[in-house]
Amino acid sequence: MDDLKYGTRNKRGDWAPNEPIETAPLFAFPPKLLALVKWLPHYFFPWNAIFAASAVVYWAWVIPPVEAMQSLSVGWIAWLYAVNAVCVFFFYGAFELHLYVLKRQENRFKYNGKFPAEQKSKAFWFESQNLDNILRTFLSGVTIWTAVEVAMLWAYANGYAPWLSFADNPWTLALVALVVPVIHEFHFFCMHRLIHTPLLYKWVHSVHHNSVNPSPWSSLSMHPVEHLLYFATAFYHLILPSNPILMLYQLHYAGFGAIPGHVGFDKVEVGEETLVDSHAYAHYLHHKYFEVNYGDALIPLDRWFGTWHDGSKEGEARMQERYRKRKEKLAARKARNTIGEAAE
Ligand SMILES: [Zn+2]
Ligand SMILES: [Zn+2]
Repeated sequence: MDDLKYGTRNKRGDWAPNEPIETAPLFAFPPKLLALVKWLPHYFFPWNAIFAASAVVYWAWVIPPVEAMQSLSVGWIAWLYAVNAVCVFFFYGAFELHLYVLKRQENRFKYNGKFPAEQKSKAFWFESQNLDNILRTFLSGVTIWTAVEVAMLWAYANGYAPWLSFADNPWTLALVALVVPVIHEFHFFCMHRLIHTPLLYKWVHSVHHNSVNPSPWSSLSMHPVEHLLYFATAFYHLILPSNPILMLYQLHYAGFGAIPGHVGFDKVEVGEETLVDSHAYAHYLHHKYFEVNYGDALIPLDRWFGTWHDGSKEGEARMQERYRKRKEKLAARKARNTIGEAAE
């Protein structure tokens, strides 16, 4: 597969796509009907369909009977942690093995020419990005994911969350299922923007940003406070007319869905001919430049707030201009303070 048909590689070996990132036409105004129809299959396949299917599988085979979940007990909570951990291990591990250990597609479509294992850094536990990321994923990531899941299931079992049945409310639930990714995008953008404020960035979010060159294990490598904020997306189902399966879909969208954004490759080669888009470039640019693309553009929030970078030269220029203006503002403020101090 020739990745140079789709992009270019610089001297450092970093690959970048030729085309600017296409954003979802969901909120385009005036509505772009044709673009919407063309985009819709990508909305479902393959990623969203995988996370929705995994929620159904969980409900059928993993989640304990409702009566058992009416009270909290170590048995079923430990069982849920174990299943989540095993699923994360195999799902994340499959990408890691395919792309980073066996390097089956070498550096084809890889944004950053280097592999994290080649670079030691003091920013990480044991100076190893992989070890640090894996430990954080299982110590606090899967733990907090499971805690939120347990809290929600307990709430459903005790009648504290609205639980509609698919038989009685098929259309309402279909609509909620459809907007699960939109809820995630809204929630993620808000909490992500919040933890980019100076104090929270320093104490919380910098942990995730240590991985400037993200790989699959970086997906859930976060500070516990960020894990809690991130998985809190399930709590929307405490007020939405919903169902435990959709709540699980929301959680899986966050937990398993973090992978595509951190895979580090623009396309994953499946067999000889098939390429699966990771849609990771927007979030890769976030890891590279920090203050662009707080969301993934399902809702064009970054466009509305002026922080969108689509990977093009224009996008780059817009970002540089924004940084320059901010620098000027800071310098002016500093000068004002100095004059003020001198006058005192
Ligand atoms: Zn990230
Ligand atoms: Zn960030």
